[in-house]
Amino acid sequence: MMTSLLVPPRAAERSGWPTAAATLTVDHTAFAHNLGVMRRVSGVDVLAVVKANGFGLGAVPLARTAAASGATALGVATIDEAIALRTAGLTLPILAWLPHPGADLATALRLQIDIACGTEEMLTAVAATATVVGVKARVHLEADTGMHRGGASPLEWPELCRAAARLERAGTVRVVGVWSHLANPGHPHWSAVANQVDAFTLALGSAYASGLQPEHHHIASSGAALAHPRTRFTLVRAGAGLYGIEPVEGHEFGLRPVVRVAARIVQVKRVRAGSAVGYGAGHVTQDATTLAVVPIGYADGVPRSLANTGEVSVGGIRCRIVGAVSMDQIVVDLGTGPAAAAVAGDEIVLIGDPQAGEPSLAEVAQWAGTIPQEILTGLGDRFARVHEGAQNVA
Ligand SMILES: *Cc1c(COP(=O)(O)O)cnc(C)c1O
Repeated sequence: MMTSLLVPPRAAERSGWPTAAATLTVDHTAFAHNLGVMRRVSGVDVLAVVKANGFGLGAVPLARTAAASGATALGVATIDEAIALRTAGLTLPILAWLPHPGADLATALRLQIDIACGTEEMLTAVAATATVVGVKARVHLEADTGMHRGGASPLEWPELCRAAARLERAGTVRVVGVWSHLANPGHPHWSAVANQVDAFTLALGSAYASGLQPEHHHIASSGAALAHPRTRFTLVRAGAGLYGIEPVEGHEFGLRPVVRVAARIVQVKRVRAGSAVGYGAGHVTQDATTLAVVPIGYADGVPRSLANTGEVSVGGIRCRIVGAVSMDQIVVDLGTGPAAAAVAGDEIVLIGDPQAGEPSLAEVAQWAGTIPQEILTGLGDRFARVHEGAQNVA
């Protein structure tokens, strides 16, 4: 009937919330707070890491908030991610640290994007493109100080520096940074990072000996920035901490949760004891109980490993996910207590505020046997995405 369209909107819709089945809310005030913690504790410039679409939460809006909250640079992995930020109007220096052969270096250089070079091949490609485009390339040379991932090894490093110095004299390149990455940034003990910091200090010395004068020296990511003063140099690259992930084992720095994931119950049903739930009958109810169907599944980033393990909050009450996680839905056991009074349309929280009894991001990751970063970057495209407190400046 047409009149059914005239029912009064629910409270959430009245306050401007979307009508989608599930909502992902990003708290920009918390993100700005976390950036403040990172700046205060480290005492140096903070490059805000917004790779992988801002850990899955939205690179452009979070980069704007970072810029408005004191970040001095932005960092991403790929050239394309950097181009997207610049094209969206972000004016801070942007570092792309994982340029690949065949990447659109010309556009990146035209857009004044800083490019990391850990090999002579990449440095040569960047310099050649800079000549064609007619700009001076800004590069950050990457040293491998012991992680054995990217960057020049100690054997390759002196020659990379000499090549860069030649290109500086030729006027095609300016080395603005020397950097490396730590294998154990969140380990609370200095011994876990000391060797790499020593190797980095040697690499810096060798860069200066080649005639380079990089203004930025950086090796710390969030964990080291907070826990290890001697890793801070001139700049720290902060990702995890900004997103509310406490990066140092056994320590809390008062970082606030940034993400909230909620969905509306689509159906509630009473079942008898012995009812098999979901694909493969992955759970059989012990007693008569009440089940809720929630429209969010592994396609939305709910790990299948949460089956019979993970919990959600129903009005502040913890309830278990029972049976297999499907592509689009999960089933939650509301039990026989007050949660069983929930009705279709009520909100359940998958990731929220532990202070309010809701599952924290860290808890969800633990249930899933993974790290919070993998949960965040796995959140799918079907959510209505709400950016609370977003700053609209470049
Ligand atoms: C992801 C990343 C960071 C940020 O690390 P967090 O632990 O998330 O702070 C810094 N530098 C590089 C090179 C990275 O890949």
